[in-house]
Amino acid sequence: MYILLIGAPGAGKGTQAKKLSQLLALRHIASGDLFHTAFEEQTELGLKAQRYVDLGELVPDEITIPMVMRHIEEPENIQGVILDGFPRTFEQSQALDAELSRIKRQVDLAIHLKVSREELLARLAGRIFCQANQHVYHIKFRPPKVADRCDLDGSKLYQRPDDAGEAMRRRLVIYFNQTVQLLDYYRQQHKLREVDGNSSIDQVQAILLSVINDSTGRVAKV
Ligand SMILES: [Zn+2]
Repeated sequence: MYILLIGAPGAGKGTQAKKLSQLLALRHIASGDLFHTAFEEQTELGLKAQRYVDLGELVPDEITIPMVMRHIEEPENIQGVILDGFPRTFEQSQALDAELSRIKRQVDLAIHLKVSREELLARLAGRIFCQANQHVYHIKFRPPKVADRCDLDGSKLYQRPDDAGEAMRRRLVIYFNQTVQLLDYYRQQHKLREVDGNSSIDQVQAILLSVINDSTGRVAKV
């Protein structure tokens, strides 16, 4: 089963995808995490990708698509994956379909996590990540137990440069412009489901699970 989670930066895709991947026993592939991991490993693709991320620009497809497909094609992911943050554009959705059909697979469901612009700005301004594993916290909505330290691994917390100021606003504008055509593409194939992402993490999680169960007949492993 191949599920896409589509949503703006700050919509909660990462948090939701992580939980869904545990409940559905599917690997969670986040393009943002792939970039950060590749950057930390100082791979050539990773260093190139980071330059775009720091500027609040989209990472070009010739970097993103090979990175994502490398993970999709890993043998342990043959049952499917939850893709979070990819595809972002119509062109990427075409490339993904072509690559999946090559391995006799297809996108089953595209879920749009809808969050208002005001809510996104409030969430993004306070996001902090741990240096060791990119665990996400929020200064106001989800603070760590000890200031500036990850609850899970004790590493230092930092704000991503692209979450602050002008770079973040540019990211949102790019996101809204790119996403219209992407949503239309999946809507026409009757694969699109829209979920209100403005409420609490648990409420959104419950809605997502019921949407996935209704659409695929798959029952979550709880
Ligand atoms: Zn951590």
